[in-house]
Amino acid sequence: MATEAVKRKVEDIIQTVEKHSSEADTQMIRRAFELADAAHAGQKRKSGEDYIIHPVAVASILADYKMDAETICAALLHDVIEDTVYSHEFIAEHFNPTIADLVEGVTKIGKIEYQSKEESQAENIRKMVLAMSKDIRVVLVKLVDRLHNMRTLEYMTHAKQIEKASETMEIYAPIANRLGIQAIKSELEDLSLKYLDPDGYYDIVKHVKVSKRMREDYIDKVIGILRERMDERNEDCKIYGRSKSFYSIYRKMHAQHLQFNQIYDLIAVRVIVDTVRDCYEVLGLVHTEWNPIPGRFKDYISMPKPNGYQSIHTTVIGPNGDPVEVQIRTKQMHQTAEYGIAAHWKYKEGRGESKGKELKYENEMAWIRRLIDYQQEFDNAGDLLETMKVDILSEEVYVYSPRGKVIELPAGSCPLDFAYRIHSDIGDTCVGAKVNGKIVPLNYTLKNGDIVEILTSKNANGPSRDWLSFVKSAHARNKIRQYFKREEKEENIVKGRLLFEEEIKRRGLKDTNLASAAKLEILSEKLGYHSVNDFYAAVGYSGIKMGTIFTKMQLLFPEEFPEDNQEVTLKKPKKERRHGSNVTVAGLSDIDVHFAKCCNPVPGDKIIGYITQNKGISVHRIDCPNVLNITDTDKIVQVEWNKNGISGEFLAEINIKAHEKQGLLIEINKVFLEMGIPLTALTARNDRGEYSYYEAVFEVKSRRELNLLTKNINKISEVISVKRV
Ligand code: MN
Repeated sequence: MATEAVKRKVEDIIQTVEKHSSEADTQMIRRAFELADAAHAGQKRKSGEDYIIHPVAVASILADYKMDAETICAALLHDVIEDTVYSHEFIAEHFNPTIADLVEGVTKIGKIEYQSKEESQAENIRKMVLAMSKDIRVVLVKLVDRLHNMRTLEYMTHAKQIEKASETMEIYAPIANRLGIQAIKSELEDLSLKYLDPDGYYDIVKHVKVSKRMREDYIDKVIGILRERMDERNEDCKIYGRSKSFYSIYRKMHAQHLQFNQIYDLIAVRVIVDTVRDCYEVLGLVHTEWNPIPGRFKDYISMPKPNGYQSIHTTVIGPNGDPVEVQIRTKQMHQTAEYGIAAHWKYKEGRGESKGKELKYENEMAWIRRLIDYQQEFDNAGDLLETMKVDILSEEVYVYSPRGKVIELPAGSCPLDFAYRIHSDIGDTCVGAKVNGKIVPLNYTLKNGDIVEILTSKNANGPSRDWLSFVKSAHARNKIRQYFKREEKEENIVKGRLLFEEEIKRRGLKDTNLASAAKLEILSEKLGYHSVNDFYAAVGYSGIKMGTIFTKMQLLFPEEFPEDNQEVTLKKPKKERRHGSNVTVAGLSDIDVHFAKCCNPVPGDKIIGYITQNKGISVHRIDCPNVLNITDTDKIVQVEWNKNGISGEFLAEINIKAHEKQGLLIEINKVFLEMGIPLTALTARNDRGEYSYYEAVFEVKSRRELNLLTKNINKISEVISVKRV
């Protein structure tokens, strides 16, 4: 039976609930606790503590989020159906059917083991979507359940820690973000990072600690000045410093290749006022006192994020000449930012409109609606997962229809993504697009606030295969594939067969038995197709990636793949892949730009331009030895990667040093296959000693992809070093 301390905590919970709602059924909460306590009696957590501590902790966090008595009961009982003899019927009878449904919903979400396999992840998400559509409180309980488990993750095995942390980072934190619950999102991310990259995490923790005093003094100074100005105007407000989360520092360092000391917005100053008008007044005041940094001003009040977040952000050059970010919002906006959908829920209940049973968020949370539509539409788990990750959980861009309707798309979307979002017929008959009244190419990258108009024609030829290479949303991609699937089955079989055979040749495998009827049948079956023709058809309409096919073949028929210590050179038809429009040259336009072959820059590298005699500007990496040798500094010009988007692939080369091992070449090759990075050449060399050396030439889209590749190759235990050439 529970200790006195636990019982006291339950009384605290009850007090908190009563504070927010005087009519709450506190007796029911006590009964839920008693049942949970009895049900879990004798059970221990990995930490050695009594199990009951966990559900009570979950309930306590939810009480702080002002959740109602039913949610608190469900939290107390959330592990009861799963771990003990009590059933749904039992809870429905002794409490009420809503609580029983909530508990069952939470149980179902957690049921499927996360194996970082596509199918089970998708299945998990599907369950979550279903649960969410019935009653959003299920997801709130599940999120807080995960939060408490992450806080106590140190007691789990290393393997379990990595598994839980990955799942949290990939699924739970993005969902918390989508529901607008910033505090939970940040804590989940920080806790995951601690296990996924402990070195990276503790490095930041250490740096933050060391520089803390200095930064705090500075922020106090900023706050002091602001406070004075506000007092002069008799303005009632709250001003305080808000530290950036460890994970957001981490992400910024990695995404922008910055050192810790290059990140200046570690603490933001937050100003909370009464009205929207006050927000803009404070903004004026801040900009009068200090100069704003151009491009850093964001007005999420006039254009809220889809999760409901509203605030004004601006970065100014503060009193010491150092930049400082100021965030301005009203009290109500602050509530929404901290509590997200939980705040909305509370608000609605307070007006007696909702019991929280139905989904009432269509306007604020259009994405939940969309998710439910998607999940009905896609029977294939993999497609649904892709849609989830790309369309729902990634960064977004907001654009307008000509009638002023706001449409939200994944960042990097083009007009076709917009067209397919409106209706698949509009996508299929699209012949052109206008953005802000001007005709743009279909692969134009949409920006926040663009007004998009789609031009359609009844005589359109239907989607083009090229479209698949630049649409961003999984929804549009799926719709285009479906079109090809429908329209051109026969054609696709022929085309798919041709593509497959070409790929076999390209990979230097034409002397193997891989294309034999028997092997093809096994392959098709293992990939989930009913027949070899279905498989070919899928290849034909780009429904499956070559990388996926060849990875599978290597697993199924390893004997057909080349052994170590031989040279595999993969010849690929040369294509135009280094287009000059990917780079902009300061102050000049229409300039002939090409990439230097000595250092092969890829997007994300620091670059510099050199004016050549008659071949325009040659772009080098800043650390290229040829650049260091340039004496003619007049000929150096500043160049930048095009901010409006980069297209195509870029040649890169790495050298790998590894301990000798049979089959290592295949393993390295597999990393490329799995990441879908096309190899131009992969050469193995053995010095007859203990080391093997490999040279890989391949095409990547960005520095980021290159870094990820390097990281993945480094994961192979025999690999000693990976160096960019
Ligand atoms: Mn639990």
